[in-house]
Amino acid sequence: MNIENLLKKTITSSQYRAITILGEQFDRLGIRAFLVGGTVRDILLGKSITDIDVVLEADPQDITSKFDPKYKVEVHSVSQFGTCKIILSDQTIDLAMARKEVYPSPGELPVVEHASFEDDLARRDFSINAFAAGINSQDWCELIDFDNGLADLESKQIRVLYSKSFQDDPTRIFRVLRYSGRLGFDIEKRTKKYMIEGLRLISLLSGVRLTNEIRKIFSEENSGAILRSLDQYEVMSYAHESFPNGADLTKRRDLLQSLQIDPHNRDFYAFVSLISSLERHNAIERLNLGNEFMKFGSDLGKIELLEEKVSRSELHDQLKQISEIAILVAGTYVSRKIKSNLDLFLQELNKIDLLIDGQDLIGLGVPEGPRVGDELSKTLSYMIESGPLSKPEQLIVAKKFI
Ligand code: ATP
Repeated sequence: MNIENLLKKTITSSQYRAITILGEQFDRLGIRAFLVGGTVRDILLGKSITDIDVVLEADPQDITSKFDPKYKVEVHSVSQFGTCKIILSDQTIDLAMARKEVYPSPGELPVVEHASFEDDLARRDFSINAFAAGINSQDWCELIDFDNGLADLESKQIRVLYSKSFQDDPTRIFRVLRYSGRLGFDIEKRTKKYMIEGLRLISLLSGVRLTNEIRKIFSEENSGAILRSLDQYEVMSYAHESFPNGADLTKRRDLLQSLQIDPHNRDFYAFVSLISSLERHNAIERLNLGNEFMKFGSDLGKIELLEEKVSRSELHDQLKQISEIAILVAGTYVSRKIKSNLDLFLQELNKIDLLIDGQDLIGLGVPEGPRVGDELSKTLSYMIESGPLSKPEQLIVAKKFI
């Protein structure tokens, strides 16, 4: 089957140009090259594509330096597997060497070996991702359907290529549910059985791989439905017993939508906020989210311990070291009274500033030394209880304390 017509219909003219230049250059260099994976799947589904993935039977690392110099190619990055991101004709293209993967043990990253193009298709996750289409002139747009993926696209099902697929790589459990939710496809019967058998191996995945998969789900258009589909198989609890379920996570993410916080991490703030304070440290470690999240988690714990009845200066004292993000996030789920205390802190108490400094106090006769700091903090506490003051007013108050 030749997919040139489909290709022309689904991709932009700039993408088409990039692919034809690549084909022409690889012809010149005598290298076989193919569009692969999700790129071909989406073309077959008539969807527009954002990623152009190309596999070569050669190492892509400095291949572009051999291109005809009339083409401007920018090498963007090179990954640990020898994949190269390049920019050509305004398009970002992933060039990868055809490879074979050997999994030393479940959950671990594979050992990668140079291989034939057919081996590269055999290592893929699902039949609907194991397509390729030639870009050299001799097989331009000829479809290679490695394992009956076309039939699966037609019957709208997702099927693994071999029975131990999920054992080799349990991230495929997240992937199968993500594609199923995105495309509205069923999981083929045997694939579902293998997936269920592989669930317990999710616990072996590293934090980075786990976070990566969860982040990919967060960025899906219908992420809510996908997260809820994880609940059916308790996928999150296989990752860590403290992890929230997808239904709660979806609700908490919605609550955080309107907050002015870094959107890249917002969903993980929602995630962490749902974990009990006793478990947060372990959960953040499990996800390998780093120190910023550790501080966030411990800040949430402190906010959750706040009493409803506190003086303004007690409130200030308890919150002054807490990050604004933690206060905003906790504000979405604490009691109404605590929420109004958090608002009071953010909108008023946290904005009260000392306009006088140590020199002013020394000028008023306070001897240099620790007393200067004491008198300044008394003045600040006074304002926190009674409201902000101008600089001359602050000097009057400070004088009273001396
Ligand atoms: P998306 O549309 O989300 O970008 P994609 O299908 O392009 O999806 P990628 O994660 O970009 O997916 O991966 C590109 C291709 O690499 C996939 O289509 C699949 O063939 C292969 N692949 C990616 N991850 C795995 C994996 N864990 N196991 C096997 N094959 C994989």
